[in-house]
Amino acid sequence: MDRIVMKKPAKINLGLDIKGIRDNGYHDVKMVMQTVSICDELVLRKLDEDTVIMKTNVCFVPTDDRNLVVRAIKMLKEEFNIKSGVRADLKKVIPVSAGMAGGSTDAAGALQAMNELFALGLSKEELKERGVKLGADIPFCIEGNTALSEGIGEVLTVLPKPPHAKLLVIKPKCSVSTKWVYEEYDRLVKEKGFDNLYHPDIDKIVDALKNNDLSALCTQMGNTLEEVTIKRHPIIKELKDKMTKLGAIKALMSGSGPTVFGVFNEDADLNKAKEYFKDFKGIDEPFICEFLNEDEE
Ligand code: ATP
Repeated sequence: MDRIVMKKPAKINLGLDIKGIRDNGYHDVKMVMQTVSICDELVLRKLDEDTVIMKTNVCFVPTDDRNLVVRAIKMLKEEFNIKSGVRADLKKVIPVSAGMAGGSTDAAGALQAMNELFALGLSKEELKERGVKLGADIPFCIEGNTALSEGIGEVLTVLPKPPHAKLLVIKPKCSVSTKWVYEEYDRLVKEKGFDNLYHPDIDKIVDALKNNDLSALCTQMGNTLEEVTIKRHPIIKELKDKMTKLGAIKALMSGSGPTVFGVFNEDADLNKAKEYFKDFKGIDEPFICEFLNEDEE
């Protein structure tokens, strides 16, 4: 095999809480992660010359060692002493710096593709162990579907998929650095005290999934990082409020933001909301997607 094509989905957070901050600055998280039906496409090819080349369709995404795909390829090339070169072509569809784990899912795809292309024989667990060294969300991006993510993101528990619903996803034009959001969160903890910040009840989100109860799920969904990102980018709150007015049963920021997604029961409300946001200033074009649970299809 000389070439492999991977479709790697984005994620949203149905719940995101921080349980503590470690001495080394890492955060202990408790998150409910969900893959959604918007995917980047990654093609890996073997090259004769011992080099790693990357190309992408988005001009502002780096294609050198700053790209997680290049780092993932080099990591396995080095460990397994692979002398063949690799070319990676990445077609980005997932919004960048959006809180949808775009870079992490690409890196997960690169690890999985390298494993197949060079018949490395790594198990899913072994791929995840390597992935977490590059980024905390990468183990989930290897696992996919619905999962509880704890530790710094490496402790995963598979969860039942959510009930069917449609999502309207909107990315404000601003970009948010995950590092900045976590640093600001630490500042907020010092200023207000950990217990005085909003913490979603992740166990109740898990219960709602186990009970296949969309209404309870939406009631419990929450993100402790919203306060930080909304303070800097009030458009996030504006989008959430407007989506709710337009019929979303829940509207929430994903990850460290700034992307907002609305959960809709009714197609008519969903389409009306999408239409409304077409002329909204300061956002990229809204898109519709769904929860993606591949094993069960
Ligand atoms: P997360 O939800 O995990 O916080 P994100 O959606 O906020 O991720 P990414 O889209 O992964 O953020 O991009 C964050 C930064 O990482 C970008 O500024 C980009 O320069 C860099 N980056 C590295 N590799 C990639 C990649 N494969 N795709 C997109 N960005 C990448």
